[in-house]
Amino acid sequence: GFKMGIVGLPNVGKSTLFNALTRTAAAQAANFPFCTIEPNVGEVAVPDLRLDRLAKIAQSRQVIPTRMTFVDIAGLVKGASKGEGLGNQFLANIREVDAIAHVLRCFEDDDVTHVEGRVDPVADADTIETELIIADMESLEKRLQNIVRKVRGGDKEAIQQERLMKQALAVLETGQPARVVKVDAEDAKAWRMLQLLTSKPVLYVCNVDESEAASGNAHSEAVAKMAAAQGNSHVVISAKIEEEISQLDPDEAEMFLSELGLEEAGLDRLIKAGYELLGLQTYFTVGPKEARAWTIRKGTLAPQAAGVIHGDFEKGFIRAETIAYDDYVSLNGEQGAKDAGKMRSEGKTYLVQDGDVMHFLFNT
Ligand code: GDP
Repeated sequence: GFKMGIVGLPNVGKSTLFNALTRTAAAQAANFPFCTIEPNVGEVAVPDLRLDRLAKIAQSRQVIPTRMTFVDIAGLVKGASKGEGLGNQFLANIREVDAIAHVLRCFEDDDVTHVEGRVDPVADADTIETELIIADMESLEKRLQNIVRKVRGGDKEAIQQERLMKQALAVLETGQPARVVKVDAEDAKAWRMLQLLTSKPVLYVCNVDESEAASGNAHSEAVAKMAAAQGNSHVVISAKIEEEISQLDPDEAEMFLSELGLEEAGLDRLIKAGYELLGLQTYFTVGPKEARAWTIRKGTLAPQAAGVIHGDFEKGFIRAETIAYDDYVSLNGEQGAKDAGKMRSEGKTYLVQDGDVMHFLFNT
């Protein structure tokens, strides 16, 4: 599954948000209890109205949403890269995630201490990024030394790694994150293997007060500007609202949201933004037993999409009977789609589309 790491300075609302996200009724509904893997790791059901619609048509007995994992990564403070709190556990946690949700304090509250004594989310973002840049530089310098011998020995992989590491270092030394480096397709895998903290895509999460969740405020606007200039995205969320919603049942939550002038819970917007950021999409498997959603990257071919369900599906892939979501709904299910000639038989080179309803045929 895909993992988002929640980072930010202390007291910005990370834990409040994490706890709310992983305890919300939506996360627990749909036969998919939130599961605590570790105290700081939680899985959330990805809300998708399409899945409910498909399940209704097929009268599926079970509805199983796809999941996204959130990791609450505490321990980032100014000076962290000099050993003040940035432990190995922290680094391991953050290296593992696919993307970073960077929570920024955009609320004023004299009762909640700010580590720098003032609310300035743009400066905070810079503080954290600087720590991550320094951490990346240090790990690269170490790793460059470690592969010197292999490079001298003519090891092709080491030579490629060294080239990429030097490219990253050159950028980091100018105070920019590694994600600004343009990487060729043939280097993409080796680049990912470097697991640089600042090469992960970032989503800024502006944590605003309840009364400003719909409108945002001057702080969140400053973040929006910064994010746009960097080519990153942002969402405006009130962790406090999410905390309250997490204690309501879905109907109550909807009423509460509309009173606040909000169409969607923060969780929904955060996950949507995360999908966008990671280039993810969903396909479905639908039958009387269950309707289920699966997450893949955009650009995934049918066999690899099947592999998300089970490795054998990919290995023995023959073909995929495929119905587009809109056809499935408008023709009232599989039989209707079949009768209308809208069930396609797709082979190994089929590029799976968002919302496809798929049935895989495979050799065992
Ligand atoms: P963390 O250190 O980043 O995990 O921050 P916490 O989630 O523990 O929050 C720190 C404090 O700020 C707690 O007392 C929260 O209740 C409070 N807090 C979080 N979000 C908001 C908010 O949007 N408005 C206000 N006024 N307080 C908040």
